[in-house]
Amino acid sequence: MPLWLLGALVFLFGLCLGSFFNVVICRLPAGKSVAHPPSHCPQCQTPLRFYDNIPILSYFILRGKCRSCPERISFRYPLVEILTGVLFYALFQKHGFTPQFFTDLVFVSLLLVIAFIDLETFLIPDKLSLPGIVLGFTASFFTVRLTWTESLVGLLVGGGVLFFVAILYQYLRKQDGMGGGDIKLLAMIGAFLGTVGVVFTVLASSLMGTIFGVVTMLRSRRQAGTTMIPFGPFLSMGAILYLFWGEAMLNWYMGLFFSP
Ligand SMILES: [Zn+2]
Repeated sequence: MPLWLLGALVFLFGLCLGSFFNVVICRLPAGKSVAHPPSHCPQCQTPLRFYDNIPILSYFILRGKCRSCPERISFRYPLVEILTGVLFYALFQKHGFTPQFFTDLVFVSLLLVIAFIDLETFLIPDKLSLPGIVLGFTASFFTVRLTWTESLVGLLVGGGVLFFVAILYQYLRKQDGMGGGDIKLLAMIGAFLGTVGVVFTVLASSLMGTIFGVVTMLRSRRQAGTTMIPFGPFLSMGAILYLFWGEAMLNWYMGLFFSP
């Protein structure tokens, strides 16, 4: 099979799986089954026809509205689908069909679902992060990025560093800054990416989170600390950034100091 066709199939597979992730993002925090009942409009409960459930296309054909009632369909649906498709395709370009490809497929899927659940509920479900920690560690035995000791150390650094920061923050500000969910997510990221990856993720996500926070604050003219911003989406973005460009960015950064 030609490579472009395989790439296209991986992209389509990502779109379809993204459609399923939307269901998980809706139902998992509510404790509902992700398998049953079949997709329906959350407002009028009308089951979706198969042709109203095609990734991306249906959203635009229906112009972002339910066929049976005036309920608007969240833009999150096509967004998650396209993000999943693009990330899967990019991983295929990077790794081909190798164990690392399948491992990273699981990793970015977890990051994506966790980011959107955190965005909507301010919670990171243990049901995703804890199995993610185990999967990341187990995968290190079959993949090339990390040895199992590197994965283990990454896991501990991810869990430990943020635990320490959370305690320090609590002590200084007398309020919870980072939730326990963020700490478990970072342990998962450490298990998949190792120590350098997890430290990079913390720095990159803090930077992005700070910029976003300042911009939001200026726009809403509110005082610092009054707007709640979930940290999970930034951690996910930081980890994905490292997955694709981490080494290149680190090499460039080190080159600034150690160039001949
Ligand atoms: Zn409806």
